[in-house]
Amino acid sequence: HERAEFLTSLFRSIKGFPKEGINFRDFMPVLENAEGLQIMLEGLEKALPIPADEFDSVAGLEARGFLFGPALAARLGKGFIAVRKAGKLPPEVIGEDYTLEYGTARVEVEADAVSRGERVLIVDDLIATGGTAKAAADLIRKCGGTVAGFSFVMQLEGLSGIEELGDYPTSTLVSMP
Ligand code: 5GP
Repeated sequence: HERAEFLTSLFRSIKGFPKEGINFRDFMPVLENAEGLQIMLEGLEKALPIPADEFDSVAGLEARGFLFGPALAARLGKGFIAVRKAGKLPPEVIGEDYTLEYGTARVEVEADAVSRGERVLIVDDLIATGGTAKAAADLIRKCGGTVAGFSFVMQLEGLSGIEELGDYPTSTLVSMP
């Protein structure tokens, strides 16, 4: 409990970033703090939504999911799959389009990143509306993989992000309005 409070205290809030009306929760101070980084990684490991032997790999979402996903995967003895924004990976890729508040976006993985039946835990720093995480899940399934669950560090309250994901096992360490 104290640890959750400490983690929460490390998030910095910036009103009006990246645009008016958004209260941006800045995750970087968690990484910059030696104790924060340990607590976060230990917390994610302890709070896994499913036992570690029930998934094969960890997929992280660009960009902040790349900052701790590989560290978590290494602790668990798993590999890491980078789910990138469109156009960053060399061909061949498999992609999934999704809708944003304004316009659309696309996430991609390398075509051979996920094997058939591979059970994948999806991680990101923060879930708000759930749109990004859902697109990643659709992408993993399109590749022939199975979504084993989701782990987030931060959940924004008052948005139905987790419900948007469906019935998957999900864990979050902390939540903020
Ligand atoms: P969603 O698709 O759930 O609405 O938004 C989540 C995605 O946007 C995540 O990839 C997350 O990193 C990013 N994001 C949205 N709002 C914030 C925020 O306030 N702070 C941080 N660190 N990331 C955010």
